[in-house]
Amino acid sequence: MRVAAIVVAAGRGERLGHARPKAFVPLCGRSLLGHAVAALAACERVDAVVPVLPPGYELPADARGAKTRPAVAGGARRQDSVAAGLAALPGEFDAVAVHDAARALIRPSAVTRVIEAAERTGAALLAVPLRDTLKRVRDGVVVETPPREECWSAQTPQVFRRELLWEALEKARAEGRTGTDCAQLVEELGVRVHVVAGDADNWKITHPEDLEAAARILEGRR
Ligand code: C5P
Repeated sequence: MRVAAIVVAAGRGERLGHARPKAFVPLCGRSLLGHAVAALAACERVDAVVPVLPPGYELPADARGAKTRPAVAGGARRQDSVAAGLAALPGEFDAVAVHDAARALIRPSAVTRVIEAAERTGAALLAVPLRDTLKRVRDGVVVETPPREECWSAQTPQVFRRELLWEALEKARAEGRTGTDCAQLVEELGVRVHVVAGDADNWKITHPEDLEAAARILEGRR
């Protein structure tokens, strides 16, 4: 199975409080995008990496490498950015691993695990069990408490057979629906998406204090 990784980096990331888009913000001397691309390229199951950038931005030098393909301009919503990356993929790839540039701490071993699961099943994502009890809240009032043992926090990469992801994005476009991750759109096709245990430190860098915490994690890995 030939696998391409699409790294979505076209969001503004305003919660991080930087003037430049989040993926370009430095962490231990390398952009968040550079970290994410390098970790995916280090996984031997990944054959190519396609970065998706905000329109008008150039690929940072630290995200270039032997597996890095030309960058693609993203869209207004995350799923539009994924669709732009997918549309630019040459026909040789059978599966796609969609990854958030903001998850700069991803480890190549986790990428391998989720790709192998998708190879067997067609659709898989990394996730970790929730520590807290989840509440569904409407107008400040709890409307549901799903059983905690059934609640997981979804991460990326999320890996799909290429035609499955294409169909999911097309269906969402035709029906005017927005998903917060790709798996949600694939689930809505009635396809079973398999869960692979992720690493607790593969969280999405979102707030300014996350950069310091991420730097400590990277330093601890050296
Ligand atoms: O906004 P959120 O945290 O869900 O973004 C997750 C990832 O999707 C980020 O890496 C961000 O750059 C990317 N994204 C994108 N295009 C958008 C919105 C988000 O590539 N329009």
